[in-house]
Amino acid sequence: MEPVGIERYVQHVGEELVAAVFKAARPLYGLRVLEVNATFHGGGVAGMLHSLVPLMNDVGVNADWSLLYGDPSLFQVTKKLHNALQGEPVSLNEQDMANYLRVNEAFARYSPVAAGYDVIIVHDPQPLPMIRYLQKGNPWVWRCHIDLSTPHEPVWETLKPFILRYDAVVVSSEAFRKPDLAVETHVIPPAIDPLSEINRELSEAEVGRKLDQYAIPRDKPILLQVSRFDKWKDPLGVLQVFQRVKEAVDCRLVMVGNMATDDPEGPEIFAQVARQVGAMEDVHLITQTDALLVNALQEAAAVVLQLSRREGFGLTVSEALWKRTPVVATNVGGIPLQVIHGQTGYLVEPGDYDGAAAQVVKLLQDPELRHKLGSQGQAHVREHFLMPRLLLDWLRLLAELV
Ligand code: UDP
Repeated sequence: MEPVGIERYVQHVGEELVAAVFKAARPLYGLRVLEVNATFHGGGVAGMLHSLVPLMNDVGVNADWSLLYGDPSLFQVTKKLHNALQGEPVSLNEQDMANYLRVNEAFARYSPVAAGYDVIIVHDPQPLPMIRYLQKGNPWVWRCHIDLSTPHEPVWETLKPFILRYDAVVVSSEAFRKPDLAVETHVIPPAIDPLSEINRELSEAEVGRKLDQYAIPRDKPILLQVSRFDKWKDPLGVLQVFQRVKEAVDCRLVMVGNMATDDPEGPEIFAQVARQVGAMEDVHLITQTDALLVNALQEAAAVVLQLSRREGFGLTVSEALWKRTPVVATNVGGIPLQVIHGQTGYLVEPGDYDGAAAQVVKLLQDPELRHKLGSQGQAHVREHFLMPRLLLDWLRLLAELV
């Protein structure tokens, strides 16, 4: 009989970690946990919850997931907040704050939080203020997935009073701890699900069929960046790097990016990229959401790029490494946890397109080097960034909180 629960991960992480998960879950049986975020699709947070919530239930925690029903007015504000937390000097006007609070107040009134959960985990700034509108009788955790290394101070100060109401804050990297935040802060890096459509092992034939479906030939080595069309992911920089690389080694560039429902800037950024691509040869822009395509491309690519200017974690990096594809990425946020320079890929500073191109060319010219870094990358992800480790970290934190 096919196993159905967390034991399916034994093949990837071994029995000890799975046993540790069950042990950590034992004091938590029946605990009612609610996860709250703002999108069901698009972006890394939703992807992670799709795996984590069923696994929590499998090991005995009653985990539930609720979506803040935002509207465009909310997402205009929360994108501003996101940009400001990542360091852009954004100013919020009164109407912004009014919209932000109105949606959260309405949600707090009508959401299942009122039905009583033992622990509430709130993801990112969108639902952050809802805590303000409920009588607090249980632990709340703010799980911030954003790169908090250099927040724009006035906006950070505006959000802090909401954060202070929480019992714990969770960030993805030590680099995001805020010394000026008086709330206990835990570091839990994200993780990928090796059994999901994005990461499960594909046969050569499946990879070939997917690439054919999107008319992507395999006649030349493929460079790939998988990222929402978002300025923080520097898609125009990806084009610059591709042009430099192509002068030395003939290759193709594939950029896959869907638009998250809570990101109003996506269409405009995509339009800029499409204009820039214009008549450039061998560039494929794909906006469809297709997990198997992402999987097949990460498998087929010679090198994966992740040129983010800020990055909370960048699940796409671990996803590529898991498929033994080396990554050339910027040395920002959560990326250096995954790209160990010279071991699993190469790190460059944001905006250093010459440096990035040189590393890509080096990899394209040396299949053995690609193979070595790719294998080391997969081992690194297996040890640190697979779902059962994330589940274990959460169970341990929940046990501390209740
Ligand atoms: N993703 C996808 N299709 C796309 C773009 C992204 O399936 O067109 C997935 C990607 O594979 C990853 C997640 O969305 O699993 C993005 O997570 P990441 O942490 O890289 O970035 P975020 O979007 O959360 O900033």
